[in-house]
Amino acid sequence: MPTTHFSNRPVRCVIFSLDRAEPRLIAPSRVSLQVLTMHADKTDLLGLTPEDLEIALVAHFDSRGQPSYRAEQVMRWIFEECVESIDGMTNLPADERAVLASTFVMGEAVADTVSLSSDGTVKHLWKLADGELVESVLIPATDRLTLCISSQAGCAMGCTFCATGWAGFRRQMTAGEIVSQYRASRRWGWENDYGRITNVVYMGMGEPMSNRKALHSSLTILHQGYGLGARRITVSTVGVVPGIIELAERKEQFRLAVSLHSPESESRAELIPLETRHPLPELIEALRRFNKAGGRRITFEYTMIRDVNDARSLAPKLAELAFSLEAFVNLIPFNPIPYQDWKASTGERIEEFRSVLEERGVAVAVRVPRGRDIDAACGQLRANALVELQGSKAPAES
Ligand code: SAH
Ligand code: SF4
Repeated sequence: MPTTHFSNRPVRCVIFSLDRAEPRLIAPSRVSLQVLTMHADKTDLLGLTPEDLEIALVAHFDSRGQPSYRAEQVMRWIFEECVESIDGMTNLPADERAVLASTFVMGEAVADTVSLSSDGTVKHLWKLADGELVESVLIPATDRLTLCISSQAGCAMGCTFCATGWAGFRRQMTAGEIVSQYRASRRWGWENDYGRITNVVYMGMGEPMSNRKALHSSLTILHQGYGLGARRITVSTVGVVPGIIELAERKEQFRLAVSLHSPESESRAELIPLETRHPLPELIEALRRFNKAGGRRITFEYTMIRDVNDARSLAPKLAELAFSLEAFVNLIPFNPIPYQDWKASTGERIEEFRSVLEERGVAVAVRVPRGRDIDAACGQLRANALVELQGSKAPAES
């Protein structure tokens, strides 16, 4: 198994505690829910939507007596060139670069480790400015390069089949941190002949719809700033109903994946504690609203766990639900995790589910996990399934 570990770069910051007047070093485990970085007082250029970025830059260069095209130059460096630092913006005079860097930061993701799978999947472990670690995964396929990104350090949802859930919640990620995974992965893709990232899925660590402010800013930045088509960006949720409604209300055609895992409330609640807060009928109602908003097919993700959620009787119920919502279904063999002795459903049972769904007119795919040799498969991250999530049966990018 070819696994490449790149050496750590030096940690570039101290971590400040905000509960004292004097900054002091504290251990990452004691970092509060706020993002604590040495540049807490500076705006992160990577976390601003193009509109806000332009306003900030125009005001900055105006106050410097600089021509307004300087703002355009910086925006081009960020969105088109994906430049790694302000110092790399070489058509800006050196003193302007220095002043820009003393006013703003570019919170670039710093790679702690890069692991290459024998199947071409690449996992990056990113060290955030306060030492938190999050992962993203690049999944190459013949016709696309999908990037699976994290939206939170850890996750508070506590789903019983998910390693991230067992590990608990650390903190929210900022929009800039979410986007920086894309930027750094894009550069990595260029440098390593992986080509251009065509699709982004929010299926790494965390529940994106529990971090909605950063989610929505990052969606706008990826779409408007970096030019990723909205239909090529998928947000996966375990069923945070207000988040689904907010996504439905956006005019862009961002896509939605729902981690369903059972068509019955009772058994779903055993896997997903959130089911008790937003039970299936409420979730289904929100999905109907999402459908009514138009043009976007929902994907159901169904992780198949042997003798847990793969009873034969569940297949027709799943089919009925998916059919009524015109949803696409991804059947995903459970990826074993250290905290449970559950196993994946047998191939035979997965096939049975697939044929029941197909017979009842539901579009379905069985996903082959990717990157298992580098732990990039489901459970830590759900790197695997998305390769074809937006695949041939899904509507093409408009
Ligand atoms: N929190 C969001 C997105 C991140 S989890 C969500 O739950 O949708 C991404 C996907 O990984 C989800 O569909 C989740 O159900 C799946 N997953 C988590 N642990 C898994 C495991 N051990 N095996 C298979 N899929 C898993
Ligand atoms: Fe969080 Fe998703 Fe894992 Fe549930 S499945 S614990 S929502 S990351």
